[in-house]
Amino acid sequence: MRHAAFAVALGACLPLSAAAEPLFFSSVTSNDIDYILTDDPDALACLVDRGDGRREMPDKRGGPLMAEGVHLFDARYLDGAMVPIWAHPRLGDRDAALATVTPLAHAIGKLPGFMRAKLDHVVLLDGDESAFAEDRGRFFVVYAENLARRIASHDLEETVFHESVHATLDQPHAASEAWRAAQQADGGFLTGYGAENPDGEDLAETLLIAYAALRHPERLPAALTERLRRQVPHRLAFIENLLTRLDRPAAMRDRAAVCG
Ligand SMILES: [Zn+2]
Repeated sequence: MRHAAFAVALGACLPLSAAAEPLFFSSVTSNDIDYILTDDPDALACLVDRGDGRREMPDKRGGPLMAEGVHLFDARYLDGAMVPIWAHPRLGDRDAALATVTPLAHAIGKLPGFMRAKLDHVVLLDGDESAFAEDRGRFFVVYAENLARRIASHDLEETVFHESVHATLDQPHAASEAWRAAQQADGGFLTGYGAENPDGEDLAETLLIAYAALRHPERLPAALTERLRRQVPHRLAFIENLLTRLDRPAAMRDRAAVCG
């Protein structure tokens, strides 16, 4: 794990063109800090095969919204959450789709339970585009080749967390008066990506690193945590308050009871 490279490659959703002295040049999902570890506890109980069906599969590259023959899986979790994952038939047969659906379901299993519970579904497409989320529909869309690269660079969990913030917390918090007041009181931004998109990306960018700082402080370099506290103290307080209200440990059920 290297910590020196705070100035990194492209952001999770869009390229960055300018930044106002943020802590991270780009996005927190694309640097060398592992906020969520591959062997962190994972609530995934099983993946249930739901056959094939017709679903809305929005694709930033365009094309028809509806697709036939979509491979449908239900990811069931020990805390009682269930997240449908829909894989486009262009990924190949069901086994080919499972090669990506399985790590994706595990990454969802590492989300805070209150976020997982609000996630409506996940769309998995072929290709190498960056992920995006639909805040009102409470879902996000990922691309298999892009995920493969993110798995290789240990960024899968961070990407799923970032998109899940969009899908489960942007509404109603990203444009709330309390969040805007915290942004104004802080002044600076944590990431260049958040600075360029204060309404759309700042909450997702800040929440991931704040979650790590509050729940796993040992994973962040001490100097980074210190700058975090100095640069965005009001946003940290907002997020701490949010987590205190929503992030409660859930009773884990028996795997057999969850999966039948
Ligand atoms: Zn984003």
